[in-house]
Amino acid sequence: MKKSLALGILIGIVVIVAVLIYVTSYKLQVTRSPSDTRLQAAATINPLADMVSQIGGEYVNVATILPPGSSPHTFEPAPEQINSAQNVKLFFAIGHGLDSWLKPIVDSVPNASTITVDHNIQLRDLPLDQRDADQPDQTVDPHYWLTVTNAKVILQNIADALIQADPIHKDVYAANLSSYLAELDQLDKDIKAQLSALSKHELITHHNAWGYFADAYGLKVVGTFEVSPGKEPTPQQIADLQNKVKQYSVSTIFSEPQLSDQSLKPFVQDLNLKIAVLDPEGGINNMGYIDLMRYNADTIANALK
Ligand SMILES: [Zn+2]
Repeated sequence: MKKSLALGILIGIVVIVAVLIYVTSYKLQVTRSPSDTRLQAAATINPLADMVSQIGGEYVNVATILPPGSSPHTFEPAPEQINSAQNVKLFFAIGHGLDSWLKPIVDSVPNASTITVDHNIQLRDLPLDQRDADQPDQTVDPHYWLTVTNAKVILQNIADALIQADPIHKDVYAANLSSYLAELDQLDKDIKAQLSALSKHELITHHNAWGYFADAYGLKVVGTFEVSPGKEPTPQQIADLQNKVKQYSVSTIFSEPQLSDQSLKPFVQDLNLKIAVLDPEGGINNMGYIDLMRYNADTIANALK
């Protein structure tokens, strides 16, 4: 064996072990001292936690339950994660099958409540060819946080919940809401201007997370590589996608950091395509919601220009 190859394998093993240690040791950051009088909250996914912290400011301590780099579709909470949530009073969730693993955690915490932030959101149905055959009941697309319009509604729902739980600070929460909504209005304008200038509009994505984003910004998701996140596509699904690549002259497949691209790589190589990475969660780089949306818009703009 060549030395460089042996060294490469060794480095690979070290990296894998380091990632495993990090993922298994990750716990909710809900440690607090007895003098911490902040409202204790947790959110299932990183973008939702960022929104809670934008509104809660100094009066709310918010933890993210889904570890960075994990997919909400395949996550199962470890007993330590359930134990470390015992101080939480308010849990924020997306619902619609995305974070149903929250239930055993909430059930273990006395006097906690769950706020599903979908109130007043116009939900979209998953197209028939993007539904998971293993989950026939899941017909609603749960990735609704990925448009700015919906984020504004989510933020209103968060503010309502915080004000109800902690009415003493209601003026602060209302002020935080209104200044953050103004930032989001600017974000929405920027993304619309950026993406409306593109000459191509068709996306093939790793999993079906981008329907709301596409609808909001004049794009179209024409195919999905893993209809069931974490499961390899069937030969028939691969053949359908190959046809879509040709039909729409697709040059880039949009992968995601939370999903393995093992089975995606041969497909991409066979068709001489490029891979660009979209991120629905933003946990790995600790991106807040605004940075996350800008990152995704930039990634699509660069790939489709
Ligand atoms: Zn998803």
